[in-house]
Amino acid sequence: MNSASTSSTGKGSSFSTPLLFMHVCCAGVFFTKGGWPAFGIFIAMYLLHVFALTAGYHRYFSHKSFKTSRAFQFVLALLGTTAAQRDPLWWASHHRMHHQNADTEEDIHSPKRHGFWWAHMGWVMNRRLSETRFDKVRDFAKFPELLWLNRHPFVPVVIAASLLAASGALLNALRPDWGVTGPQFLFYGFFLSTVAVYHVTFCINSVAHLYGKRRFEVDDDSRNNWLLGLLAMGEGWHNNHHRYAVCARQGFRWWEIDLSYLLLRVLQWLHIVWDIREPPRAVLNEGRAS
Ligand SMILES: [Zn+2]
Ligand SMILES: [Zn+2]
Repeated sequence: MNSASTSSTGKGSSFSTPLLFMHVCCAGVFFTKGGWPAFGIFIAMYLLHVFALTAGYHRYFSHKSFKTSRAFQFVLALLGTTAAQRDPLWWASHHRMHHQNADTEEDIHSPKRHGFWWAHMGWVMNRRLSETRFDKVRDFAKFPELLWLNRHPFVPVVIAASLLAASGALLNALRPDWGVTGPQFLFYGFFLSTVAVYHVTFCINSVAHLYGKRRFEVDDDSRNNWLLGLLAMGEGWHNNHHRYAVCARQGFRWWEIDLSYLLLRVLQWLHIVWDIREPPRAVLNEGRAS
């Protein structure tokens, strides 16, 4: 067995430098050709990464709200890792701790206890919290391929960024009339898109515990925020999620659009995922008035 899976924590380095580097590199868009191809690659990579994080890192690795094959489990892990938010073991171990202690002194990212900026991105840059809590993710720490991603989270990121730049350059050579360039795919499709996904993800920890409506009087300050519901593909229905975290669906009403859940239903229809957990009727009835 790998030594990492037997210890309670894994070594981690501070995320401050990579996070700063990603933000600074966004300035490249000012020196790069924009237009529809830039917008298209930005949106495509944004949606791909938000889905990988919400359906993969959050609903699968953190909450086990559906089942899938080991192969698709790795696809979700790999796609999520290319979003440059570390690997699924680190991410899920800290998210599970958030649910165990939400908005108490022990919560690692409560805006109520530790302030907005700490909840938003301060905790991500903290060296102490850069360690993976393997004791929280023993169920997934037994897979060697996930442990490899845990040890080398930046390898898939560099490969994905290089592939984006190379495919932009190739399209430029093959179809110059499309107006696509390598730097355009790199700066809009990788740097700008990844930083946008950072802040939407971080907003679930900061904004969705401060601003929005509370349908359920749970023991924490989680809120349902419609704007984050749209931007984060369903994750903004955060009060619903804290009420019943083990289900794959976070929008409990027809108007609470939950794009990740709808995509999971499509994957279920294709037999790629199965046993999607739904909120019980009693929980839905509990919040019936709103
Ligand atoms: Zn929360
Ligand atoms: Zn959660």
